Amino acid sequence: MKIYRSMVLVSSDPQSMLLGAQAIFSRFQEEVKEFGLEDEVSVSMVGDLGRHDVFPLVIIYPEATTYGPVKLEDVHRIVEEHLYKGRVVPELQASVKELSGRIAWVNTRKGTLPAEQRIVLERAGLVDPTSIEDYIIHDGYTALGKVLSEMKPADVIAELQKSGLKGRGGAGFPTGLKWSFVSKAAGAKKYVVCNADESEPGTFKDRVILEGDPFSILEAMTIAGYAVGADEGYIYVRGEYALAQERLTNAIAQAREFGFLGKNLFGSEFNFDIHIHSGAGAYICGEETALIESIEGKRGEPRIRPPYPTTHGLWGKPTLVNNVETLANVPAIIRHGASWYKQFGTPSSPGTKAYTILGNVNSTGLIEVPMGITLREVVAIYGRGIKNGKTFKLAQTGGSSGSVIPASLQDTPMDFDSFSRAGVALGSGALLICDEDTCVVDLAKVLLNFFRRESCGKCTPCRIGTERAWMLLTRISEGEGALKDLDELISLADNLYNLSNCGLGQTAGTPIRDILKYFRAEVEAHIRLGVCPTGVCPMHREEPIPAYA
Ligand code: SF4
Repeated sequence: MKIYRSMVLVSSDPQSMLLGAQAIFSRFQEEVKEFGLEDEVSVSMVGDLGRHDVFPLVIIYPEATTYGPVKLEDVHRIVEEHLYKGRVVPELQASVKELSGRIAWVNTRKGTLPAEQRIVLERAGLVDPTSIEDYIIHDGYTALGKVLSEMKPADVIAELQKSGLKGRGGAGFPTGLKWSFVSKAAGAKKYVVCNADESEPGTFKDRVILEGDPFSILEAMTIAGYAVGADEGYIYVRGEYALAQERLTNAIAQAREFGFLGKNLFGSEFNFDIHIHSGAGAYICGEETALIESIEGKRGEPRIRPPYPTTHGLWGKPTLVNNVETLANVPAIIRHGASWYKQFGTPSSPGTKAYTILGNVNSTGLIEVPMGITLREVVAIYGRGIKNGKTFKLAQTGGSSGSVIPASLQDTPMDFDSFSRAGVALGSGALLICDEDTCVVDLAKVLLNFFRRESCGKCTPCRIGTERAWMLLTRISEGEGALKDLDELISLADNLYNLSNCGLGQTAGTPIRDILKYFRAEVEAHIRLGVCPTGVCPMHREEPIPAYA
């Protein structure tokens, strides 16, 4: 294995690729060769590095100096000055300096907090995701080795339960408990499924993990297979995630070659292999039973539950379905122990959470922070405040199926229990930050438009309810609404929640309930006064509403 003195990582997320990352990567290779540094400096492409205002981004280790946005003509200078002469080029560095410091510390009203605490993103942006050797150098497969040589399956599940890890896909179900259900389920054949169908609008944390650290997911799934008694796994990857699929395909091939997948792993009697299944772009396939149907080659529609996948999953066999971020925690928990993990986060929600910050903030991107941080802190510290000196109005959490969080709740700790007590949901990790110019009617209309299009149509409350709710919101946004429409919207939201078959329909009414709870006066202004207080809504009808409205 070759050891280099410096490592150059070029971001290769889709946006960076569009902006010429491939050419920049090739130019780095050429320049490094030109300066005779090819035995001292490695050049690799990595996935999304988490910042979306400075791409293509280049990080040079071990200094962790960050350059960006890098242009083709900058490469010669960076190689000559930084790699050949050992001098940083300040004018080409990314403007956000602490991006380079992996654990920077910042002062908040609660004291000192780690700017980021990386567990699931620990290696993203640090390792070459195409190299199993690089993964091994960075503690890769240590956890699997420990599990197979020192622990019984029950010990692994007990450690996970002790850690308090909860599912990061949105529901927050205790992970160790879910593993124990599958472990105890009757049947010789069991499966592990990684839900990588990350379709919530604005959420891309799983993509960064898959692109930047694909081996960690393979290792976690293999540990899960050992713990629950499964010998086969599937990764259901969102169809649009081409780079993630490429990285996973390569990772699986290398893991098989190195004996980390296949038969008799680490000389034990344990066998495990993993397949990739590409999604075709349906939001509903992120729901675990629709995902299972889709792997089986059927139309992606949720099943009626119970029975649950833990006993009747893929091809009717007990199946463990975990989200990417949830699985990415597992190797670290096994390596360091449950007590180590519990030092982060809150007592009821230990660990960290990866969030994507979007909307009207000065700095957007991906962060991983301890559970329990507040929305106010996220906006002030990581979002660098609201754009153009405006004020915070609300945040929409967790993609479309999350909650609308008003300013009055921005000091609520962001953990599963605190949010639940406040009557809102944390969701999958997208934080859409909206300023004073955001219209809540328009926001709810956009969300319902999304749901009515993504509803699979299997059950009537969702198929008809989302359509009807969108029509009423459209009418209100065009100045044609009536106060009785608000009663009907509430009734629709209740019926969606109580009568829908799956989470899509059950959460589709959340934005309606939230805007009427926290911003009713603004909604009523559209009806009573015929004005949109923020000036966003057209307040005139652009096309006829169908006769049955
Ligand atoms: Fe399909 Fe909606 Fe029913 Fe879910 S709630 S099964 S998405 S129609």
